[in-house]
Amino acid sequence: MHITPMPLPYPLRPWLAAASLCLLAANPALAQSAPPVAEAPLRAHLAFLADDLLEGRGTGQRGGALTVRYLETQAAALGLAPLPGGCYRQKVELVGQKTLPSSTLRFEAGGKPLPAVFGRDVVFANANGSAQTHVAAPLLFVGYGIDAPDERWNDFAGADVKGKLLVAMVNDPQPTSAEPDRFGGKSLTWYGRWIYKFEEAVRQGAAGILLIHTTPSASYPWSVPVNSFSHEQFHLAGAGNALQGWISEDMARTLFAAGGQDLDRLRAQAEVRGFKPVPLAATLDADVKSAVRTIVEYNVAGIVPGSDPALRGEAVVYSAHWDHLGIDADNGKPDHIWNGAIDNGSGTAALLAMAQAAVKRPAKRTQIFLWPCAEEQGLLGSLAYVRNPVWPLAKTGADLNLDSMNFVGRTRDMGVAGAERSSLYATSAQVAKAMGLHLAKPVPDLGGAYFRADHFSFAKAGVPAFNVGSAVFSGDGSFEFEHDAAAEGAKMRAFTKDYHQVSDQYDPAWDLSGMVQQAQFTLNLGYAVANAPALPTWKPGEAYGRVKR
Ligand SMILES: [Zn+2]
Repeated sequence: MHITPMPLPYPLRPWLAAASLCLLAANPALAQSAPPVAEAPLRAHLAFLADDLLEGRGTGQRGGALTVRYLETQAAALGLAPLPGGCYRQKVELVGQKTLPSSTLRFEAGGKPLPAVFGRDVVFANANGSAQTHVAAPLLFVGYGIDAPDERWNDFAGADVKGKLLVAMVNDPQPTSAEPDRFGGKSLTWYGRWIYKFEEAVRQGAAGILLIHTTPSASYPWSVPVNSFSHEQFHLAGAGNALQGWISEDMARTLFAAGGQDLDRLRAQAEVRGFKPVPLAATLDADVKSAVRTIVEYNVAGIVPGSDPALRGEAVVYSAHWDHLGIDADNGKPDHIWNGAIDNGSGTAALLAMAQAAVKRPAKRTQIFLWPCAEEQGLLGSLAYVRNPVWPLAKTGADLNLDSMNFVGRTRDMGVAGAERSSLYATSAQVAKAMGLHLAKPVPDLGGAYFRADHFSFAKAGVPAFNVGSAVFSGDGSFEFEHDAAAEGAKMRAFTKDYHQVSDQYDPAWDLSGMVQQAQFTLNLGYAVANAPALPTWKPGEAYGRVKR
């Protein structure tokens, strides 16, 4: 494939030349491509947002409040229109809970007490905002804990689940030779994610849920849930489980055996269509004591109203979470600020630079620039947004998300994993072509990446949505770097050690041409959607396409 070299000084990037010479004339929708995104403001915003002064943009922390203040000031100064009500903030109420060491637990199986230690054998938290909860419930093994009408699969069929403590496996039913495509084949579906299972336990009216940890099924060691349950966890204010957490595989094996069951046999049964829940002849009696606080955080958003009176009632959303992990002065280390330069100072800054471009020449449809809060706490800001959208979701054509962008140089391709679920893949391919780029090949989503960024809150609410891919986390080397591919690929891989570490810091030497390219692609795609005759549609049979918005 021919790529124009880079003879032109910024901002006349080669893709502009290539696009204007040949492709735009052939495609009327793309002829109204977006105004150019400039590197200088993107770099300035990124350097500021990743500065120690912003204290890692922590949820419930001073650095987070400073970030919100900065974003709303910038949104106003750039000329974005405010939300209805005249401000740029959307209130998000969060409840922080941390299980206290004074909590107690007692398993009983086969009529005998079974010793278990919090942290070693089991971890849990209360997620309903109570400071103290007593849970005394019989245990019920529910296989994968999935109720999936689209897969004709219900692990709760025929069982009385109310008031029971569910014990479930993570992941989803594995493909068989008879059903090689069930639950996405090798790809992880949303039904396999632990968050889905916690939510499903609430919907089923269970007393709570414990997930059986194994390193292969969870894709991380036991120390990860132990660590996360020994810290404060945030939820949106509202209903949650009285008890939710994890049980170690060893403890589960012992517990099942003491009640006369065999863990491996039940796991094998759970793979078979028609599985029915199995009572475990065991109970848990737990006093869950929690430190609880309610905090108010904010999504920030600004609007570029559409230019076409007939279409401006419909919108495209661009999103990039502003929060990171904040500051922990007691971590006993010299550096205690999680700056989050890449995650997600990059996306936050890119959205500001994109908004600066968009206000210069609005598209036909309305564009909404959204900076959700509390993504690192479980996509909470974007979830709050779709529950209380500033624009009707039925009139929202797409959410294009940016999270952790490319900082190592230009690529010849873009990653749009998840776009293939809707008509947006074809649109993305057209936009890429017009920029002299092509789309990275979709690969099976083994780790469930589609469910781990803010666009997923939109998809769950029925809006076609995906993350515009960065080279940073592709990990498989599928990105094609334009210049020194070996060096750029090495830099990219080296960053994985900085992910969610205090070392995710801004470096003024970074080559941001790839980040600008990624931002420009995203904005061009947004304009293609905003100027198209009709809104994007989900692929037939796509589960999220059946969600009523
Ligand atoms: Zn992150």
